[in-house]
Amino acid sequence: MHWLLAGAKACKRWKRVQEVACFLGEGFFAESFYAPKSSPLECAFQKIPYPREAGMFGASDELRLLRETVSRAAKERIAPRAAQIDEAGVFDREVEDLCWDLGLLTLTLPPEFGGLEKDQGTALCIAVEEIAKHCAASALLLIIQAVGSFPMVHGMRPELRDRILKRIGDDRALVGYLVTEPVAGSDVSGIRTTAIRDGADYVISGTKCFATNGGVASLYSALARTSREGGHDGLSFFLVERDRVGFSVGRTENKLGQRGSNTTEVILENVRVPADHLLGEEGKGFLLAMRDFDMSRPAIGAQALGIAQGAFDVMTRYAMERRTFGKPIAEHQLIQAILADSATLIEASRGLIYRAAALYDAGESNTKLASMAKCFASDAAMKITTDAVQVLGGYGYMKDFPVERMFRDAKLTQIFEGTNQIQRLVIAREILREMA
Ligand SMILES: Cc1cc2nc3c(=O)[nH]c(=O)nc-3n(C[C@H](O)[C@H](O)[C@H](O)COP(=O)(O)OP(=O)(O)OC[C@H]3O[C@@H](n4cnc5c(N)ncnc54)[C@H](O)[C@@H]3O)c2cc1C
Repeated sequence: MHWLLAGAKACKRWKRVQEVACFLGEGFFAESFYAPKSSPLECAFQKIPYPREAGMFGASDELRLLRETVSRAAKERIAPRAAQIDEAGVFDREVEDLCWDLGLLTLTLPPEFGGLEKDQGTALCIAVEEIAKHCAASALLLIIQAVGSFPMVHGMRPELRDRILKRIGDDRALVGYLVTEPVAGSDVSGIRTTAIRDGADYVISGTKCFATNGGVASLYSALARTSREGGHDGLSFFLVERDRVGFSVGRTENKLGQRGSNTTEVILENVRVPADHLLGEEGKGFLLAMRDFDMSRPAIGAQALGIAQGAFDVMTRYAMERRTFGKPIAEHQLIQAILADSATLIEASRGLIYRAAALYDAGESNTKLASMAKCFASDAAMKITTDAVQVLGGYGYMKDFPVERMFRDAKLTQIFEGTNQIQRLVIAREILREMA
């Protein structure tokens, strides 16, 4: 129960959070602790709940409670809005409010600001997975909040840190992460935004693109060049508040998928910030970004996993009901092969993701596993959602069923937080380093 209370304290919404805890009811523990031990296919065919916490390697009571709470909230409050959010392609404030109420947007902050005392990486993956089963765009809100606040949590001077992190919970401040630029995505060393020291300030100038939460956040972690030398060494992170003179939001992107997430250009035109807004050491911003990836890549994997599980659930139910040639299509062996392969990919993704997250939580190196989790789970999600459209036939191609949305949403998980080509380079680099 601790994380709920911590989150509640942080966002000052005691009552609503307590209500959420209450509606879990007395049967909750029995229900989730003793879920039947069956294969996903068996479960689907017998209409019994598949024990999804099975991949969590001895998760604590706190994490089980988190999963159950988020699962119910996502089913009851987010799933009914998911199609409309996608259709409208606009950021949904009601979902944002729900996430604040549940303490999900402070999960990875220090405990005194609403975060969990331990297992933050795993908790983030759990919450993201459960929401992404129904609405990937809503799940992205949690990821970007954690990714954007990471340089603040781990790089800010103590006095400013306490003030800013308190503000996140108290003011319900969303956070953005400004790294990518029109000519620098995979190749971060190409960043052209500059931060030049001028007396007691830095003056930041440049244009950032594809910024999730760009138009709705009030605090940003921005990566800029602080040295004339090229490469990774001359880059530094800065805290930039939205109300700084020279800050403006550019075009809002019209996207293929995850359309309810807000993606914009951000323009920094001679934005002056005090020198204490430097996050971490000057010139070491790239290293901070790499540490952030160790947390965020398993979370992107969890988003992909949620999308895949959502599509799997829909296609399996459909296959059990839709009849051709005198029997449900689930009884045709070629359809069974799709279900079996999908379930196997889902379980393998789950294993990689929660292992990578557990290593992160234990403070151990997880760079290789984090990239494997992100890469494998997103490729799996793309395959599974494509197959789900196929299993539903013509109906799969229509907006009446959610699988076409999931198919579009899955694609992004192969692209952001480092494309899957880049993940493979990271995995290979780590292997070669280990073997050297
Ligand atoms: C919806 C959305 C939200 C995003 N949110 C954010 C955000 O909040 N903050 C942020 O900073 N960024 C964000 N991004 C940016 C995202 O991280 C980048 O798009 C991604 O890293 C790829 O960069 P790029 O688009 O410039 O592609 P490029 O780097 O130009 O790559 C183009 C292609 O070349 C491949 N490629 C590149 N280099 C190599 C190589 N060495 N070997 C093999 N193949 C290679 C890539 O894999 C890709 O297929 C977001 C992107 C999207 C689409």
